[in-house]
Amino acid sequence: MARFDTVVLNGTAVLPYVGTVRCDVGLRDGRIAALADALAPADGDVVVDARGRLVLPGAVDSHFHIGIYRDLATDAESETASALAGGVTTVVSYFRTGSHYLNKSGPYRTIFPEVVAATEGHAHTDFGYHIGIMTSEQLDEVEWLVGEGVASFKYYMFYKGLNLTSDSPRGTAYTMSDAYDLGHLYLLMQQVAAAAVRHRAEGRVSLSLHCEQAELIRVFIEQVKRDGPGGLEGYHRSRPPLTERLSMAEAMVLAEATRCPVNLLHLSSGEAIDAASSSRRQQPHLDIRLETTLHHLALTWDTAGGILGKVNPPIRTADDREALWQAVVDGRIDTVVSDHACCAEEDKARDLWSALPGFGGTALLYPYLMSEGPRRGLSLARVVELASANPARAFGLYPRKGALAVGSDADLVVLDPEREQTVTPEALHSAQDFTPFAGMRVKGWPTATLLRGQVVYRDGTVVGRPGGQYVRRPVGLP
Ligand SMILES: [Zn+2]
Repeated sequence: MARFDTVVLNGTAVLPYVGTVRCDVGLRDGRIAALADALAPADGDVVVDARGRLVLPGAVDSHFHIGIYRDLATDAESETASALAGGVTTVVSYFRTGSHYLNKSGPYRTIFPEVVAATEGHAHTDFGYHIGIMTSEQLDEVEWLVGEGVASFKYYMFYKGLNLTSDSPRGTAYTMSDAYDLGHLYLLMQQVAAAAVRHRAEGRVSLSLHCEQAELIRVFIEQVKRDGPGGLEGYHRSRPPLTERLSMAEAMVLAEATRCPVNLLHLSSGEAIDAASSSRRQQPHLDIRLETTLHHLALTWDTAGGILGKVNPPIRTADDREALWQAVVDGRIDTVVSDHACCAEEDKARDLWSALPGFGGTALLYPYLMSEGPRRGLSLARVVELASANPARAFGLYPRKGALAVGSDADLVVLDPEREQTVTPEALHSAQDFTPFAGMRVKGWPTATLLRGQVVYRDGTVVGRPGGQYVRRPVGLP
């Protein structure tokens, strides 16, 4: 009997925070059991040849929306298959009560088990959930949710302005909540901050913030509807960077008051990254993590396929894109994510204002970063930190995920750095029938993805039934 279940031979491993090293990897019982300068083919029951290839820790796509616009189980199956194509082995998906998703509200004690059950048996990657606390009643469920493996929560700064009607003067139709405002955010931050202290020994507990400002959006939308321009430029102008900046300022005052660890999600503009960086400088005692997305790094409003590229916050200008890349290169941005939300082209076919926001991109997570990062001076180690190790640390998964180390889960990606391919919807293995990234030349694609030691994706094909498991977070520090 061989010493290992699987050996990955002849590759160059990319170790986060360390660098690249020529080494072989031995896998046993779903974990990494050896990193060695030389293993033999006879050492493994299964041999994966990685000659000329890079061996990366599986990416952790920490911003995902399983089931936002489609049946949750169906969406889990197709969209985590897309994730495997991009070298993603763990997704941490957002879920909240209210419109979309399960289109209902109520206590998480009944709804959360339903969400996990609908995903289990359908996900091709391991998965976890960030939870949006939408109602006053749900505030009391934060500690219960942490006990269920939820180490991160979410607040949407701009929802308080949605669907203002005489029936729901505080904008409750969309969120199905009673008082979704800064008062609610303050109470939520208190809950999360207390949980973060209680669970500090096991890992990080935090609150993610979608920063856009509702009252300003209202005014700018009216302006753009009246005076133009149309298309994605108009969308960018209807929710300008100023709205990100103001809502971030509001949120950071409350983070200061409560000492809540926060994640500033999908920073989209130079102004947003400046505001986030200065918060970090001025509030060094707070735990603040900065995230941007593939689409904000890769696209501008004139290249994102018109209404197909509608997303919140919007795709912005070439200057914004350069500012974000600068922040990635100089280390201010911690994580890069897809914000994957599978949409159909017909959901985008209406007018700009009623088209659904969001689109998929998880299959490009490693390919895009491997393609564009080194060109801009990123080391390969930095690429795996942005896509794997840093999100694993931020969301309570490290070092079980996000590491190439003995004892870590054997989530590995074998990537061919020379393989070049033009992006098409088919190349992304998603149920989404379009992509705003269409036509982009990308160099550096996974040829095999392994989840807990099993080859689950090889040469463009998903292998086997969905075997992804729910991961309870924080997983516990070593
Ligand atoms: Zn999102």
